[in-house]
Formats: sequence, structure tokens, C-alpha cells
Amino acid sequence: MSGNEESGGPAKTVMTLAGAVLALGLLYWSWSSFMVQQPLKLDYYCLSCKQTESIEEFRKDFPANWKQYPGGGSDSVLYCLKCKKGRAHPVLDCQKCGTVFVQHLFPKYDEYGDHSCPKCDAEYGKLAKSRGVDLMPKALNP
Ligand SMILES: [Zn+2]
Ligand SMILES: [Zn+2]
Repeated sequence: MSGNEESGGPAKTVMTLAGAVLALGLLYWSWSSFMVQQPLKLDYYCLSCKQTESIEEFRKDFPANWKQYPGGGSDSVLYCLKCKKGRAHPVLDCQKCGTVFVQHLFPKYDEYGDHSCPKCDAEYGKLAKSRGVDLMPKALNP
């Protein structure tokens, strides 16, 4: 080993390429963050202990904290981190009325594949209620 490193030729090309990829990545990143005006804020609600957890808490210790709840109706239904036994469901807030509701509990989707809001879609809300399903818990809608 002479210790002499060649800094020209192929190595330089690789550096240039890496720079270009990085620049493209940055461009894409800023574009996509521009497109998604607000950061993803997804909370989880536990049906047992009625507490809310942010998705960050589940991601913190991935995959240890990310335990799918069997029979939860969706692979995004997880074991609650607080009581360790409850079903934690992701919640959504309605773009129209602002109601926060539980997903995948008694799901209904509109023609665009979006989860229907049990408040805007009164029929759906009523049906869920008649089944004893609380899609809009007080804890989420103070
Ligand atoms: Zn819980
Ligand atoms: Zn709504």
C-alpha cells in the first residue's frame, strides 16, 4: 500500500454522479413537501384505554412497538403502547367538518376510496351507532 489515492478519473465521475443524484433527491424532496402542504399527523386511538398515541411513538422503536393487532380489520391496527392489550386504531380528521373519527373499526369508503366521515355521512354514522360502534369518541372530539 503506497497510500497514494488517485483523485481523478472514475472517482471524480462517481462524485459528480452522487452530487447529481443528491441534487435531484433534494429537488424531489422540496417538491413533495410543497405538494403535501402539511406534515402527516396521524394519531392512534386505543379502544380499551381511550388514550391517543401519535404514530411517532409507534415508529420510535420500530419494529418492537409496531405490533399488528390480529383480527383488527386492517394491518394498520396495532397493539396499544399504553395498555399493551388494546386495539389502537388510526384516526382521521374530516377535511369538511373537522370531526376526528376512528378508521378501520366499522369502515365505509366513498367512491374515491377515501374513508367516509360518520358525521358528514349521517346515514353511515347512524348505522355505526346502531351497531354500538363509537366512531367519534368524545376523547377525540372535545
Ligand atoms: Zn390502550
Ligand atoms: Zn365530516
